[in-house]
Amino acid sequence: MTTKECFSQYVANTYARFPVELVSGKGELLRDADGRDYIDMGAGIAVNTFGMADKEWADAVSAQLHALQHTSNLYYNEPCGRLAEALCTRTGMKKVFFSNSGAEANECAIKTARKYAAKTKGGDYYTIITLKNSFHGRTLATLAATGQDTFHHDFLPLTQGFVYAEANDLSSVVSLARQHKCAAVMIEMIQGEGGVNVLTPEFVEGVARLCEEEDLLLIVDEVQTGNGRTGKLYAYMHYDITPDLVTTAKGLGGGLPIGAVLFGEKTKDTLKPGDHGSTFGGNPAVCAGALNILSRLTPDFLDEVEKKGEAVRKALQGVKGVRSITGMGLMLGIETDGDAGEIVSLAIERGILPLKAKNKIRLLPPLNISWENLNKAISILSAVIEEKSSCNG
Ligand SMILES: *Cc1c(COP(=O)(O)O)cnc(C)c1O
Repeated sequence: MTTKECFSQYVANTYARFPVELVSGKGELLRDADGRDYIDMGAGIAVNTFGMADKEWADAVSAQLHALQHTSNLYYNEPCGRLAEALCTRTGMKKVFFSNSGAEANECAIKTARKYAAKTKGGDYYTIITLKNSFHGRTLATLAATGQDTFHHDFLPLTQGFVYAEANDLSSVVSLARQHKCAAVMIEMIQGEGGVNVLTPEFVEGVARLCEEEDLLLIVDEVQTGNGRTGKLYAYMHYDITPDLVTTAKGLGGGLPIGAVLFGEKTKDTLKPGDHGSTFGGNPAVCAGALNILSRLTPDFLDEVEKKGEAVRKALQGVKGVRSITGMGLMLGIETDGDAGEIVSLAIERGILPLKAKNKIRLLPPLNISWENLNKAISILSAVIEEKSSCNG
């Protein structure tokens, strides 16, 4: 049986997959089962921060695996404590809860917001305002938080207590905050799955002011935008705000499952023993890898991420068939004349692996991608975009 046959017989059919079987890689270069190489422009959906099989990261994980791979949360382990310390030191947040995924991090933030509001205002103040077109995860509560009907149908009834405002329309948030008894507002600085839509500073700072005035918690979902992706350690750092809760996951682990909730001053003591937990959360091997990733996201490295993003924009701006480019750093969305799905498929045939988000091409390469391969990937992508624009137009 081939791997593809094995999948079609035994793996649940929940993903539309490209006809590529990856077997190995180094950095931004990935090899398939037929021995073809690709330049990775997706990093496992913003997960492989330093690309495939990064030596420093793999050594950190493997040393920890040989010493202590798991303890449960009944005991202390050093990498978990050190990672929490590093996250707080780098952000000014006060405490951290570790989970295994973005959805779980958001679940914890939602539970924290509900408890905080119940204690400070009363049990009926549970509504959380999220944005239309957002994406917060696949569990029942985070699905409810996700402001896209396409994910909701077939899974009703959803968890109660979520209402959806228009992104970049402060009056829409204000009016929902007046109509409902609210606990929090939850936003992505750049809507990733929603199509790489960047929130404006006026909107984000307006929401932060509203939260301050009404004592609503400001929850920032940095699952995709976090960990250096946008050229700052966390995307909220591009804005003049201090979140009450930050959730992150994807790129933090460099390729292993981790999620984290960062608690600010208001929420740092909201959860008490027994309120929340996770068997694998704070796993020492995963945390040792994440510590290595975080230690390498230095100011100089992040400047380089920003520069690479600017170079990509510049290279694509004049290309025939490119309508617009959105995003920050190495999280970019490209709206094209040609069909994004067809462009991605052809790009894969030509040896690069870009992603899609809604009707856009989405680029999330490893942050340490070499300039040479970045330029090569962009010239292949440009040619494909141009080709597809003339055959559609
Ligand atoms: C991917 C993503 C999630 C869900 O993360 P999982 O690890 O798949 O559960 C949540 N929020 C945002 C913004 C994401 O991009």
